[in-house]
Amino acid sequence: MKIALVGIGKIAVDQHVPAIVESPDWDLAATASRQGRVEGVESHTDIADMLAARPDVPVVSICVPPVPRYAVAEAALKAGRHVMLEKPPGATLAEVHALQALAAERGLTLFATWHSRMALGVPEAKRWLADKAVRKVRITWREDVRKWHPGQDWIFEPGGMGVFDPGINALSILTEILPEPVHLISARLEFPKNRDTPIAAELQFSGNVSAEFDWRQEGPQTWNIDIETDAGPLSLRMGGNQLFIGGERMESAETIAGEYRALYARMADLVRGGRSDVDLAPMVHVADAMTLGRRVLTDPFEF
Ligand code: NAP
Repeated sequence: MKIALVGIGKIAVDQHVPAIVESPDWDLAATASRQGRVEGVESHTDIADMLAARPDVPVVSICVPPVPRYAVAEAALKAGRHVMLEKPPGATLAEVHALQALAAERGLTLFATWHSRMALGVPEAKRWLADKAVRKVRITWREDVRKWHPGQDWIFEPGGMGVFDPGINALSILTEILPEPVHLISARLEFPKNRDTPIAAELQFSGNVSAEFDWRQEGPQTWNIDIETDAGPLSLRMGGNQLFIGGERMESAETIAGEYRALYARMADLVRGGRSDVDLAPMVHVADAMTLGRRVLTDPFEF
C-alpha cells in the first residue's frame, strides 16, 4: 500500500523511514513537511497540497509534534485517508476523541501508536502477569533530554508534555501489561523556572504503583519497570525490550524485531481489516498528573 509521511524530523528519519522502506507492506509515496525531505521521494511542503496531488495514497502517517498534529490528522481523515499517529496521539484527550469520531463516521482506520508497547518483552510480560497478584510496581525512566530531543523547544512549550513525552512510553507499557487498571493518587512535577512543561515527575498510583521520570540523566539511560507479584519478581529493562522473570532473562517469541517495524505491520493489519486502535489510557494518566500534580520550580533549562 502507498503511504505518505508528514513531519520529516528526528523520529521520521530515525525510525519511520527505515521501517517503511524495510516493510513488505508499504511503499513510501510522498512526504509533507515544511523543510524536511526524504531523498528519492516526492515531497510537498503542505499537507493540503499533498492530499490534493496524491489521491492514490490511502494512508498517512503523522510524525509532527502533538500540538500541530490534530489539524494534519483532521485534514487527512476528511480527505478519506487512513491515519497513523505518533505518540502521544494529540495535545489533548478531547481532540483525539474528535479524531476517533471522525474516523468512525467515515469508515477509516485510526491507529494511535504506542511504540513502547511493541518492545520485545512486553507481550510476554503481559501474558505472565495475567493470572498473578501484583503487589508493587516501580517505574524508573531517566534519560537525557538533550540527546533525544536536541533543540526541540516545542517539548517545553504548552502541549509538549515535557518529561511525560518519554514518561508516557512507560505508562503505555504499564497500562498494557497490568492485569487490573490503576489510577493516579498524587504527583510532584518539577518545572524549570523558564519553561511551561515539567523536566521531572514523581507519580503515585493506586495498587502500590509508582513512577519516577527525569530528563536530567546524562551517561547511561534508565528505562526500568520492576514488578513484585505473588509468584516472584518481573522486570523490564531497556524500555521493555529485555524481560526478566524470577531474575532470569526470557527470550522473546516475537517475530518482528523493532518497535516501528511492528507498528507498521500492525497498521497494515488494521487497514486490511477495516479496524481502528485508539487506547488513550496512557494519556489519561498524564492528563491526571497535570490536573493533580503539585508544581515545584527548579533550575532554568537551556538546550
Ligand atoms: P521534531 O523533529 O521536532 O519534529 C518533527 C517534524 O515536525 C519537524 O522536523 C518539523 O518538520 C515538523 N514540525 C515541527 N513543529 C511543527 C509545527 N509547529 N507545525 C508543523 N510541523 C512542525 O520531533 P520528533 O522528535 O521527530 O518528534 C515528533 C513526534 O514523535 C513527537 O510526538 C514525539 O513524542 C515522537 N517521538 C519522538 C522520539 C524521539 O526520540 N525524538 C521517539 C519516539 C517518538 P518541518 O519543519 O519540515 O515541517
